[in-house]
Formats: sequence, C-alpha cells, structure tokens
Amino acid sequence: MNYKHALIAPIFQRISKSADELGLDCYVIGGFVRDFILERGREKDIDIVAIGSGIALAKHVAKNLPNTPKVQVFKTYGTAMIKYEGVELEFVGARKESYNPDSRNPSVEDGTLEDDQNRRDFTINAMAISLNSATYGTLLDPFNGLKDLAEKRIKTPLDPAITYSDDPLRMLRAIRFATQLNFDIEEASFEAIKAQSDRIDIITKERINVELQKIVESQTPSKGFLLLEKTGLLQRIIPELTDLKGVDVQEGQKHKDNFYHTLEVVDNCSKHTDNVWLRWAALLHDIGKAPTKRFSKKVGWTFHGHELKGSQMVYHLFKRLKMPLNDKMKYVQKLVFMSSRPIVLAQENITDAAVRRLVFDAGEYVDDLMTLCEADITTKNPYKFKKYHNNFKRVRAKIVEVEERDKVRDFQPPVSGETIMKTFDLKPSKEIGIIKEFIKESILEGVIPNDPQKAFELMIQKGTDLGLTRTDGT
Ligand code: ATP
Ligand code: MG
Repeated sequence: MNYKHALIAPIFQRISKSADELGLDCYVIGGFVRDFILERGREKDIDIVAIGSGIALAKHVAKNLPNTPKVQVFKTYGTAMIKYEGVELEFVGARKESYNPDSRNPSVEDGTLEDDQNRRDFTINAMAISLNSATYGTLLDPFNGLKDLAEKRIKTPLDPAITYSDDPLRMLRAIRFATQLNFDIEEASFEAIKAQSDRIDIITKERINVELQKIVESQTPSKGFLLLEKTGLLQRIIPELTDLKGVDVQEGQKHKDNFYHTLEVVDNCSKHTDNVWLRWAALLHDIGKAPTKRFSKKVGWTFHGHELKGSQMVYHLFKRLKMPLNDKMKYVQKLVFMSSRPIVLAQENITDAAVRRLVFDAGEYVDDLMTLCEADITTKNPYKFKKYHNNFKRVRAKIVEVEERDKVRDFQPPVSGETIMKTFDLKPSKEIGIIKEFIKESILEGVIPNDPQKAFELMIQKGTDLGLTRTDGT
C-alpha cells in the first residue's frame, strides 16, 4: 500500500526535492508515521532519517524553504532541527548502534535504513515512509508494525532482552506508549522488563521524568502505574507509592489498600482536569500514610498527621526525581497538606465560618482542592458515594456564597497598618498586629462582613479596648 496520503503537508515535497538534488535516500520515520496511521491527529514533530548526512540534508532543505529558516545543528548527535510553520523537523543520518554491556553509550556508525530500524524501540515506532520521488509514499515496515498497531501491541523489533538492556529507558517508554495509546505490552517484552527492571537505575532522572510526565498526562494514568508496579519499576522510581500497597489486619480491623485507592483517585481526577500538577497532587495525596500508619485497639487504624508528612515527602520526592522545586512543587505540597480539609466539612453541618477558613487557607487553589477531594471519593457503596458528592456540592455552593460576601480567597486586610497607626498615633508596635489579627478573625468567624467601614469601626472598638486613644481628630 502507498502512503502518499500521509504526505500532504507541502513540506514533504520540499524535502523530497532536496533529497533528490543531493542524491540521498530519505524517509519520514517513527512517531509521525505511527500517529498518522492511528489517526491521532497530532503529527506535530516530524523525524526524517537520511541514508547519509542528516545535517547536510537539513541545510539543503532550509535553503529550499521560503526565508531560509535557521538550522539548529547538534554535532555530537549528528542531528539537525528546523522549526517550520510550528512543526519541528528533526533530521538524522541512518545509524547502526552497537552496545557494549560495560558502557552506557553505544558506539555509533553510519548504517542503512534497516540498521536504523533495528535500533528503534518498538515495531510501531520503526515504520518509515519513503520521500524520494521515485518511491514517494512507499511504506517500509520490516517488523510488521502495522499489525501491532492494529492489534494494539507494544513489541520490540529485536529480542526484547537485548533491546531493553541496550537502553533501559525503553522499559519506561514501553509503559508510556502502552498508557498513551491504550496498548498491551507483549508478554515476552513484559517479562524482559520485569527481569531487568533494576537497570532503570542507570538512566538519568531527567529522561525518566519525561516519560513519567507523559504517563501522568495520559487519559488513564493508572494503566501506566499498574504496569510500573507489576514490572518492579515503580519500586525503584517512586517507592513512596509502592509503600502504600497492602492491607494490614489486626484484631479483625483492616484499612483500605492505599495504593489502589490512589490510582483510582488519579484516574477520577484526570477526568476533570488536564492540569498535570493537580494529577501529581492526586498521585501523592496519601504518601504520608505509609510512615504514619498506627494501630490502636480503641480506634483501629490511624494515619495521624499524614497530610503534613506527605507534603514534606513531596519535596524530597521532587528533589530526587529532579522535578521542578518551584511554585509547581509548592502547589502540590499545599494540596497534599490540605487534602483532608474539605472532607471534614462535608461530614459535619457546614458552617459559613468553616468554609471561609477553608477558602482563606486554600486561597487561589480552593477549586483544585475541591476537585481533588471529589476524586478522592472511591467508596463502592452507591448510597455513600451519592451522599459524599452531594455534600461536596453543598460545600462548593457555600464557597461561592461566602466568597461573594467576604472575598477571603485573596485576602487583603480591609484596614491597613498605616490607618491604624494614624488613627491612634502609634509607632510600629505589637498593637497593630493584634488589631489586624482581630479584624481578620472577626471576618473569618462572620462577626463582620469583609467591609472597610465595618472593619474601621471594629478597629476603633478594639483599639479602645486596648487602651489606645484616638488622635485623628474625630
Ligand atoms: P512522541 O513524540 O509522541 O512521544 P515519538 O515516537 O515521536 O513519540 P520520540 O521520543 O520523539 O517519540 O522519538 C522519535 C523516534 O525515535 C521514536 O518513534 C523511535 O523510533 C525513536 N526512539 C526514541 N527514543 C528511542 C529509544 N530510547 N530507543 C530506541 N528508539 C528510540
Ligand atoms: Mg516525537
């Protein structure tokens, strides 16, 4: 079958012409071909392999394009990149890789298209479509990737034991693609990964991260985390999660398996948000439960303080995995730390004051926190399920209501320190803090609304109580 219809973007004709002019063969290969056949509609990055110099081809293509776009050359890798009309064109020369078990980096030499396809990770990623005019659109699929695409299978071109040992990152990539595409990993591959999962330790955290992030961004992240767990990879990458596995029984009392619960929460959460950091918060919201788990005859299993412990663990985990330690990390920490707060509200009669405090403490994250807590409802009891969701609906409605009145989400003191000093002729002193705190508390408790006039009156009253005298001339 001819795949000309995959090559309708005008750029392919330009590459074709350029390659013919240089007299070298070239192909579009990998993700573009795979995603075109899957009709994923996301063929943004295009990988071109040239039999010869990929860099030379890139430079010639750039010359043949309007306005001659810049060619970014990565000499050490023998690759070159052109950004053209929002698409990244990546050029590489076909290569043959041989791995020596004592070294992480392969020795690389020029090779044929087949050599290049042999070193690819999966059959579905090794398909190539010819771009030269004489063979334009011909599919070269030596490992029958088409069949594996149709049958939704992740399979390596060569012996999986060798493919994964050559580059252990491929173990994670197998799971990542299985998760993104909802494919199954072929048995032999799965066994090979399981057998050498410890080799993931030689892979840099940065590369691991890219794959983890893609799993978290998938529609059903649990698929990936279950595979990571079953292959033994999760234990080595995020042991905080595998530590949540298992159900302990003492005196006939047991707790839920927090690992499987967590995965359910992540999936639930992912249905309601694309925010990858909110998904991370869901993934990590219970990690403090493993180190805080206690049993007492009186109350059974407890996880006291797991929210604080968990939020501290978030920092160490992010640091270890070389994830950003910026506001994203703080956001995840805060959500983990507050992850039980709305639950308490949903169980009791909700008072305005409690909701105001929640909004005050969660600030701009309050909606995300609610999304997380709703996702946390994994009870299989339909009566309870409905009841908890209804409770959260009421909390959400209350949040809107108290926000309208009191605007504590991004709380700004309605009376400034300056006003207090002017009114009572004070120098900076502890009274100012006391008055401000008193006003804030009165608003949160609902004694006064968040209103400058009411707050001013309260300031006068509190100042008088503190023995201060008004000196602003009234
Ligand atoms: P996506 O970009 O959607 O994640 P992709 O298939 O384009 O998917 P890339 O990481 O961009 O994935 O890699 C491009 C191609 O390079 C792959 O399709 C595969 O053929 C090859 N490849 C990438 N990484 C490896 C690897 N570690 N081992 C073998 N081949 C790889
Ligand atoms: Mg790609």
